[in-house]
Amino acid sequence: MWCRNCNIETNDTICPVCSETTVEDIPIEIYWCVHCKTPIIQNVTQADKGICPLCGEKIKYLSADLRPVFPEERLLLELLLDKEPNEFIKKSVWASNSRYYIDGKSIPISSKTFQFADTDSLINKIGHHKKNNSYKYFEMYISNFVEANKSRLNCLKTEAFEFVRKMAAKFDEEKIVISFSGGKDSTVTADVVIKAMSNPNLVHIFGNTTLEFPSTVKYAERYRQNHPQAIFLTAKNDEQVFYDVCEDIGPPARMMRWCCSMFKTGPITRVINSLYRNQQILTFYGIRKSESVSRSKYNRVEDAAESVKIQQQTVASPIFFWKDVDIWLYMFSGYFILLRTYSLKNWRII
Ligand SMILES: [Zn+2]
Ligand SMILES: [Zn+2]
Repeated sequence: MWCRNCNIETNDTICPVCSETTVEDIPIEIYWCVHCKTPIIQNVTQADKGICPLCGEKIKYLSADLRPVFPEERLLLELLLDKEPNEFIKKSVWASNSRYYIDGKSIPISSKTFQFADTDSLINKIGHHKKNNSYKYFEMYISNFVEANKSRLNCLKTEAFEFVRKMAAKFDEEKIVISFSGGKDSTVTADVVIKAMSNPNLVHIFGNTTLEFPSTVKYAERYRQNHPQAIFLTAKNDEQVFYDVCEDIGPPARMMRWCCSMFKTGPITRVINSLYRNQQILTFYGIRKSESVSRSKYNRVEDAAESVKIQQQTVASPIFFWKDVDIWLYMFSGYFILLRTYSLKNWRII
């Protein structure tokens, strides 16, 4: 437990110093190693803070959270910044909000850059230069990133797996559902749940809101094919068309948010009702505290009827305390199991 007021770790739910309610997750910080050119996730309380686990050199503070910049986005960034196409191809590029980090050097990008961008010319240029773009250096840096953050990954996995097993122990396995949206968070959640329970047969419900990108629907289809043992159901409103409803009753607004019940929770509830009638079920989903201020007020486990939009459910998020960077770390670690035949040492950038 962590007191945000005193910045101290404690075993109590109430801080022994200031009596404020403590939070479960201990904050992290992201550092940068100039030698290994990799971000390093560290706990604010860890003993070896400020030291690179790969090379033993001192590391400097970078950001509170971070995501990788894939080669396609990197090329777009170069064009937006009037750089030579593929100028940063050998650099380790990351981002956090509107800030990019190129080999650890921060570059802010203003919203005006996007506002005044000539999209037709950009599309043209990207088409022209993408053949010279490559994943070679990107994969080297990602491999270093996975290697440098091994202990963070182990902590995340151990904690999440235990959480899943503890929650699942209270339910029959047939009454456990994975809520799948086709995004990265729900993909990681599904993987964590399947591995923690060693059960590839679990029920997945894909909530297709009808407003999905075509690539999301294609990805959900690919996921289904790659998980042939899973029971994969799609919940979708086939009766109404989102834009027709907008014409009829106006677009969704904060005080009249009809979209979620009509196109998301409604269809999911119908699928759940037809499967389970009134039985209590456990749904694992990929909500995270750091997604937004409103989500930070959620609990990791919700079963009180008023806070759960779909009744008869206990909903639980194994990745509730994970940051963006943790999600990417988990996914990349899976990706590099396939590439481990390469020598990691040869990949280290000096
Ligand atoms: Zn305190
Ligand atoms: Zn290092």
